[in-house]
Amino acid sequence: MKTKKTESSNRVYRRIVVKLGTGLLTGGGNRLDQSVMSNLAAQIAELHGKGAQLVIVSSGAVAAGRHKLGIEGAAKGIPIKQVLSSVGQGRLMNTYEKLFDEHHITVAQALLTKSNIAERAGYLNARNTLIALMELGVICIVNENDVVSADEIKENKFGENDILSAMVANLIDADLLMILGDTGGLYTADPKLDPDAKLVPLVKKIDTSVKSLASDSTSGVGTGGMVTKIEAVKLATASGVHVVIAAGKEPGIILKLAAGDKDGTHFPPTKSHLESRRRWMISGLCTKGKIVVDSGAATALKKQNRSLLAAGIKSVEGKFGRGDVVAIYDDQGTQIACGITNYCAADIDIIKGAQSDQITSLLNFDYGPEVVHKNNLALLEREKSSANR
Ligand code: GLU
Repeated sequence: MKTKKTESSNRVYRRIVVKLGTGLLTGGGNRLDQSVMSNLAAQIAELHGKGAQLVIVSSGAVAAGRHKLGIEGAAKGIPIKQVLSSVGQGRLMNTYEKLFDEHHITVAQALLTKSNIAERAGYLNARNTLIALMELGVICIVNENDVVSADEIKENKFGENDILSAMVANLIDADLLMILGDTGGLYTADPKLDPDAKLVPLVKKIDTSVKSLASDSTSGVGTGGMVTKIEAVKLATASGVHVVIAAGKEPGIILKLAAGDKDGTHFPPTKSHLESRRRWMISGLCTKGKIVVDSGAATALKKQNRSLLAAGIKSVEGKFGRGDVVAIYDDQGTQIACGITNYCAADIDIIKGAQSDQITSLLNFDYGPEVVHKNNLALLEREKSSANR
């Protein structure tokens, strides 16, 4: 039987961030809408059952808190929203926990701030945690840590979770970010005001015409509107992520988008994951220090796509911390890679040459066997260097 799938690119996305906006989770009302949330959770559970790795970025804490405290629209100012979020976050999580329990799926909570993730150590800790949770089959539910993000929960300007979702998609090298709200995508005019407004199905490049379409649209209650969404799209697509903005209430939307079916507005990536990670790592950042590896480790990094373990490290130079970008050299003095290190320089000096199972006894703690994980490694001119040898 031919299905709509035939029109799709047949791409099956594996690592997916699903961003759920307040307007969607409340169904436009003044409280979390259990039936909407249950439907979204069922779709996510089905995808999870098919082997997808998922992270949810969920708004809705302020709305849940507002309803619990019985404070209607009148509450103004940052402190009260922080209070509402603080009351509502637990309730939001409680709802997700119950819904995913029905599908025998464990959920976790991560409250992040953009400034946490912008710092290297925070980036690395958040990345490692989210990836480890996905590998354990746990669905992590991320929200902005509103209580500490005073500048990010501005009066009448929500939608920051759109940006956060793009940062999370970058953080975990997602294939797809679905921004699901109460709007069907990017339109040629505001569909609520103009009956002739048409959906733009594909945007390959965000130029001034796209930005001006975005500024003409609104996307309803509780979100920052299309302009913020487009900012988020720019960030995610430049990190190698496909983004779709679509209406979350459309039946089966999460399953359809994950299967590559066309719906909403699709923004293909403008760079590959590798390219963006490489650019980030090699854009003048390899200045913090240097790790020199033996020839066995150099070959493992260059030809076998392996992580750098302590055993292959001969020496370390410079002062750097966990999460910093370091240059990796072979013992002939040629730089072969850049990578984000899991250990600081002083710790590497202690564990260099040691087997991974000795790390705990040498340091009294450990951050895992990889000094630089292969996912955090950018090889420099791989083909050229192997061809020249
Ligand atoms: N963190 C806020 C909440 O959970 C929402 C922020 C947003 O929608 O961007 O209510």
